[in-house]
Amino acid sequence: MTAHDMLQLQTIDSALDSITHRRPRLPEKLAHDADVAALAQVQSLVAAAQARIDAAQQSIEAAEHAAGDLTTKRTRLEAQLKTVIAPREAEALMSQIATLNAQRSDLDDQELAALDEQAAGEADLAAASETLPAVQATCAASAATLADALAALAAEEVSLHAERDTLAASFSAEDRATYDHARKQFGVGVAQLQHSHCSGCHMDLSPAELDLVKAAPAGEPSECPQCGRILIR
Ligand SMILES: [Zn+2]
Repeated sequence: MTAHDMLQLQTIDSALDSITHRRPRLPEKLAHDADVAALAQVQSLVAAAQARIDAAQQSIEAAEHAAGDLTTKRTRLEAQLKTVIAPREAEALMSQIATLNAQRSDLDDQELAALDEQAAGEADLAAASETLPAVQATCAASAATLADALAALAAEEVSLHAERDTLAASFSAEDRATYDHARKQFGVGVAQLQHSHCSGCHMDLSPAELDLVKAAPAGEPSECPQCGRILIR
């Protein structure tokens, strides 16, 4: 294992971290999320229109049912009217029939309003349903694009893991433990010595610390005396 191998391992791990970071932020994911939201919006318009139609339908049926009851009552009163002789009784029956007629007229108005409401609901439903197939198709297309992008990331990940396994196998158990420890502690556990400062902690090393680092054989990693990262020079 050389300093170069340490750095290479860190590069692979950083690439793997980058994939993990990129996956939920893929532009393809953001585009598909927007399409899913647009589809939900159209579906909710369809559902609202259907609910409007159903409510109007119920009102129409209720009005028709009530109108039927009124007609039955009126027929009965009209039959009674033919049999009564006393004018006061006839007047009372005629007044009841007039009340029923007024109620019936109100019901007819209610039914007409409900029919208008039903027609409006059907227009809404037609408008929303018309856009639905295109929105569904867009959503399916962006789902496929997203799946491709995720598959590409997964393939990149598999290849990086294979590269990492090969490289890590060439490390001694001790070097691997050193690397794993530094990575766990710092995320990016391998830093480079740039002139006299560490690229990990950005601290300048004193001349004595610098001598110590430079005393390590060339190509061998040492440790930053400031932060403890594996230091490559
Ligand atoms: Zn450092």
